Amino acid sequence: MDLLEINNLWVNTHDNKEILKGLNFKVNKGEVHALMGPNGSGKSTLAFAVAGHPKYTVTKGEVLLNGENILNLKPHQRASKGVFLAFQYPVAIPGVTVSNFLRHALKALGRESELKDFRKTVKAKLAELKIDESFMSRNINEGFSGGEKKRLEVLQLAILKPKLALMDETDSGLDIDALKIVASGIERFAQESEAGVVLITHYQRLLNFVKPRFVHILAEGKIVASGDTRLVEQLEREGYEKFVTKAPTPA
Ligand code: ADP
Ligand code: MG
Repeated sequence: MDLLEINNLWVNTHDNKEILKGLNFKVNKGEVHALMGPNGSGKSTLAFAVAGHPKYTVTKGEVLLNGENILNLKPHQRASKGVFLAFQYPVAIPGVTVSNFLRHALKALGRESELKDFRKTVKAKLAELKIDESFMSRNINEGFSGGEKKRLEVLQLAILKPKLALMDETDSGLDIDALKIVASGIERFAQESEAGVVLITHYQRLLNFVKPRFVHILAEGKIVASGDTRLVEQLEREGYEKFVTKAPTPA
């Protein structure tokens, strides 16, 4: 059975714009998939729909996690089943420190027992991510630099250990040093866990550090091509044009 199986998924935004139109997508345990596609093709929409964001309405199709349809579950219920979404644009949560957030999340996941080693685990991860320990007492994403926001996503991966990690442009806005740190954090997570990882990205550069087994192109509401990393090379050479039909939409 697949970890994630998406069948014929149709998704609208709240203003009834049709974004995903019959998308099929599968991720197995332990696999890293890269999801690429032109701007506005619906990559974030797909990630939000799987995580259960209320702004996106599924009008048809199913999203199965270990065989169970999760579409009727609330976002927090999906999270407790192991779905994790790293936002393309992480939001600030004033008044909630990184430390409190992570502790509460562990409790909400029913993993209080991990709190006794929390400090130690966090300390090791902060060192790997080259973050100062004072980071833990700052409010979530408040005044964070682009690099700090993305490092926080990787810290969450390491502590919360989701089963399915959807990383939405976790490479965007990073300088090359930060990119290496963030990418190796994701790579380490992928190797140490049995999780399925979906990397939504625009650029080959992330994929120089995290090696996906599968690469997919999302365009016009569907996965229009799947392959291995040679597909990324083809994209870098030829762009998306080839993967997008130019048929005019009927009025
Ligand atoms: P990508 O992540 O591939 O760049 P998105 O999923 O963010 O694409 O967006 C797909 C399309 O849906 C875009 O045209 C975008 O403007 C539109 N869209 C996304 N979210 C919303 C929303 N909440 N309300 C209205 N339109 C949206
Ligand atoms: Mg996006």
